[in-house]
Amino acid sequence: MTSPMTSSQAVATTKDVDVTVSSSSREASVPPILRIASLSKAYPSRSGPVAAIDNIDFAVEQGSFVSVVGPSGSGKTTLMMCIAGLLPLTSGSVEFRGKRMQGPAEGVSVVFQDYSRSLFPWLSCRKNVALPLRDHGHSKTHIESSVDEALDMVGLGHAGDLYPWQLSGGMQQRVAIARGLVVKPEVLIMDEPFASVDAQTRANLEDLLLTLWSETGTTVLFVTHDIDESVYLSDRVVVLTQGPSTVSADIAVDLPRPRDQIETKRMSEFADLRAKVFGLVMASQRRTSLNR
Ligand code: ADP
Ligand code: MG
Repeated sequence: MTSPMTSSQAVATTKDVDVTVSSSSREASVPPILRIASLSKAYPSRSGPVAAIDNIDFAVEQGSFVSVVGPSGSGKTTLMMCIAGLLPLTSGSVEFRGKRMQGPAEGVSVVFQDYSRSLFPWLSCRKNVALPLRDHGHSKTHIESSVDEALDMVGLGHAGDLYPWQLSGGMQQRVAIARGLVVKPEVLIMDEPFASVDAQTRANLEDLLLTLWSETGTTVLFVTHDIDESVYLSDRVVVLTQGPSTVSADIAVDLPRPRDQIETKRMSEFADLRAKVFGLVMASQRRTSLNR
């Protein structure tokens, strides 16, 4: 098992960005697992292309937990789809392990926001989790043992033969996480994965995710509009402006690990970081509304 990186991570150098780089990461020679450079994406419309994200730069260190926060409509999903190779870029590049991505890459897995739409109701949990392994020439035994392992990791070893609609929202999202983990990804991209569950379930899922991250050593790129969640989970928080979004700040979170829902959130450092991120998000919203 690989242990997770400590909380202070290297931060990509970007223009006009509040950049914090720890001395240990400056000394580290391992290249980032993901490098997003000058990434822009515009969607076509009748009146011409409409920019959703504009010139985004940041890097993600291997084994780190990086959150991206930004207001609704700021382009977070667009950014993650581009990074996952699921949407063509308008310009710029995404490098995974130093190689330019040209489409979905083996080793990069995505968990979407809406589990009720991403899980197939007519397939059992086991079959939903097995989907990413199909058509890759794996043996039946390999698929079965991988699926069992992934379901066990999210505490659903007993639920493989049930259908998604027989499970609570939190359990369904755990099935979606198991499906993301079944390929043993190097990078797990999660787009607002806990947005549709109640607060208590959300806290439990956050802690489950931190445990899985620390046990597997997977790099996590996590999208949320919840500032507390971004600070609680992450080594770094990348703050996006309102759309067409760009990176307004890249903040190192040096809170000790393991984190604890009560103790961590009680710390003055947590409150300071939360206020800092909140202030940046608010400032970018004010700037945008003044420019309209
Ligand atoms: P977020 O995830 O931060 O809420 P999105 O990436 O979903 O933001 O959307 C960013 C912007 O791009 C929004 O203005 C949205 O309307 C637009 N957009 C998203 N998907 C499409 C699409 N397929 N076609 C056209 N415009 C889109
Ligand atoms: Mg979104």
